[in-house]
Amino acid sequence: MKVPFVDLQALHSEIEQELREVFDRVLSNSTFVLGPEVERFEKEFATYIGSAHCVAVNTGTAAIHLALAALGVGAGDEVITVPHTFIATAEAITAVGARPVFIDIDPISFTMDPTLLEVAITSRTRAIIPVHLYGQVADMDPILEIANSHGIPVIEDACQAHGAQYKGRKAGVLGIAGCFSFYPGKNLGALGEGGAVTTDDADLARRIRMWRDHGSSKKYEHQFPGLNMRMEGLQGGVLSVKLKHLDRWNDQRRHAASEYAKALAGSDITIPAEMAYGRHVYHLYVIQSDHRDNLRHQLAEAGIESGLHYPIPLHLQEAYRSLGYRAGDFPMTEKVKSRILSLPMYPGVSPEAVAKVAAGLLEGCHVNQG
Ligand SMILES: *Cc1c(COP(=O)(O)O)cnc(C)c1O
Repeated sequence: MKVPFVDLQALHSEIEQELREVFDRVLSNSTFVLGPEVERFEKEFATYIGSAHCVAVNTGTAAIHLALAALGVGAGDEVITVPHTFIATAEAITAVGARPVFIDIDPISFTMDPTLLEVAITSRTRAIIPVHLYGQVADMDPILEIANSHGIPVIEDACQAHGAQYKGRKAGVLGIAGCFSFYPGKNLGALGEGGAVTTDDADLARRIRMWRDHGSSKKYEHQFPGLNMRMEGLQGGVLSVKLKHLDRWNDQRRHAASEYAKALAGSDITIPAEMAYGRHVYHLYVIQSDHRDNLRHQLAEAGIESGLHYPIPLHLQEAYRSLGYRAGDFPMTEKVKSRILSLPMYPGVSPEAVAKVAAGLLEGCHVNQG
């Protein structure tokens, strides 16, 4: 039995009929860009998250980019985020002409360490972007308290955290804006690219709507030079169908996580911690071990796929060499990056698959000790 890292085919076969109805509807109505399918999804997603507004865009990267742009962040400004994330978080910052300023993570939650925030703030800091990595929300209360005391807006990178909670509230309503990706492999994924910004701020939502559509709210009248980052009608319709299943799929991920935890208990593998403040939705199930490379090899031999999220921290990426960071600048990020291993995790992953992965890991531990 081979175990894939994700299985989108199985997920989609479950809802194939509903998806085909969307294809037919979009084809017969020619509602290809924005339009009624996208408007309905925006309303449904805002209701699901608990935000007053949702603006659908074409990627998660665009969601962060436009949230920053609509807040007026630009050249000469600094935006604080973490180096242990997907590069898109930082790319959105550089896309508006601002400078990413990194602070280290807390190695238990894998998210922004709030105790490092205050000293990183300067007179140029215009936004703070905590990342709810792997499906777990960053510790938002202390982050918001420090940000608010300086009057700096907090944008959530919730691209891996659809449905995750912090003290009973969902990711996406905690900061001034929540940014989501609907890349196919995310907890809520389109059949192609997609993204959205959630916010309670009506004026911010209005400006993001204009930014995504050439700086315009009325056809051929442009208030400022914007961009084309509109969601496609097909993706809006698909996301409406899939949103109805999101809670059940997240529950399946949580169930698989608890099976992994049971199977790996007592071994020298560190399993991911669910922080007491929240509800983890396990976009990724990331274990830690000193023998990561051996374990990964062992799994591959047994026909089990695994992943590394992420192998090179952003401050050590060639793309951000000009920022002037060095190895050693972020010890926690650098420590976990050589210990992390992402295991197969997707809705519907079978108990047999989880057992096989766990057995492969325990076997690997044995080999390392021997
Ligand atoms: C996926 C992701 C993004 C970017 O989303 P895209 O839709 O791929 O542009 C940004 N941040 C994080 C943490 C992500 O995982």
